[in-house]
Amino acid sequence: MSKGGKSRTLAVMFGILAGVALSFLLGSYMYFSFFFDPPPPRQVLVCNGVDILPSSYEWHTPFAGGILYKEHKSPERSEIPVLGTVYGGAPVFEPVQGIGTRGSYSVSLLDSEGHELWNGMDFNIPDGVIARNGDYVMKASLVYPNVLGASYGELSFVAAFRAYFEPGMATSFSEVSQGDVFVIKLYDLQESPNLSIDAGLDAEGNPIMAQFVKTGNSSAEAVIAVAHDRPVGEYHVQVSCDQNNWDVAYTVVEGRFERQNLSIDASDPQITEANSPAAYAQYREKIYPLYETYDDERYWNGVFLRPVDWEAASCRISTTYGIFRYTNGGSTPRRHPALDIAAPTGVPVLAPNNGRVVMAEYLLNTGNTMVIEYGGGLKSYFFHLSSMAVEPGDMVSKGQEVAKVGSTGYSTGPHLHFEMRIGRQSLNPMPLMSGESQLFF
Ligand SMILES: [Zn+2]
Repeated sequence: MSKGGKSRTLAVMFGILAGVALSFLLGSYMYFSFFFDPPPPRQVLVCNGVDILPSSYEWHTPFAGGILYKEHKSPERSEIPVLGTVYGGAPVFEPVQGIGTRGSYSVSLLDSEGHELWNGMDFNIPDGVIARNGDYVMKASLVYPNVLGASYGELSFVAAFRAYFEPGMATSFSEVSQGDVFVIKLYDLQESPNLSIDAGLDAEGNPIMAQFVKTGNSSAEAVIAVAHDRPVGEYHVQVSCDQNNWDVAYTVVEGRFERQNLSIDASDPQITEANSPAAYAQYREKIYPLYETYDDERYWNGVFLRPVDWEAASCRISTTYGIFRYTNGGSTPRRHPALDIAAPTGVPVLAPNNGRVVMAEYLLNTGNTMVIEYGGGLKSYFFHLSSMAVEPGDMVSKGQEVAKVGSTGYSTGPHLHFEMRIGRQSLNPMPLMSGESQLFF
């Protein structure tokens, strides 16, 4: 062998060795970068003590120096982590690891029907987005954009939770004039709250009616009437709602009422019959049981209409609410728990608000008598009607003609006796029609 042949052989061998070594190094680099590349960032959200792992991810890692990418796809996880009940509104989601400068969140909040309530770039869900008790779903995705040579992809998170606010209570003015009402409102109620209310007893030892009626998905109200003859002083109402109890106080202050002298011809046969013990016995038998009834739905809405417009021709208010009425020179006044509107026979009587007719019949004392329930025990009583156009059970709407003015029963001339009560306690109809009643607080 020549010297030159030897060195050529060496060079070839070296070349082969170098090639083998190089392909080994490259191969193992590719092998290791393919099989031992970094996994998606282990991002975890924590809320309410529950770890929320990505529900799914798609992750791309570079190998061969970023010339190629390997795709990692998670199996889809079907179960949604449930965070349980979150008190007081929006839950606090905390990402436990920094997302670095490249990653960014997009977050959305859905109601139980899948409607989007809010979306944003972080987990600072503003106050008011979760305004009521209920079930919610949070969806978030963490996106790392595609930058040459770096890992990129998207991690998705989803979690379900139930929001719960402590029930709250609000009341109208705690000072109530005789003839007005005291209102208690509850809000942030659960779906089927356990509510109770006890307004105590009146001067005769009868329970003062107070009933909660729903006014929305998570709210309710109870209206307590303060009659013209309710003794002034402090009254207490016990309210409970699930685990919460309140002792609510209000003070009854004196209302202002007029005085009236009335002479009635007691020998008139209509008056004699209407004023007979039998007539009063029938009144007690028919009307008093209505004081105990209430519909647990609120039909009324907004200010009450005048059933008869006393400013129309030939109409006027003949007796105001709560008036001290001295009949035929007597020294002991009878109080009048209603508004009398004098009007010609046949003038239409309109339903002051939406309600349900609970009575339409002739009674000896009050003549043709109609009672309409507006919800929660709030009722109007119309007396002395000449005719009635609706029947018990009928729903009536505000402004609908329900009857005509007359002078039937204990009446000396055509007028509408318009009485409003909650339970036994009467209330002044005037502020209900002017909008000044605490009912509208
Ligand atoms: Zn009257």
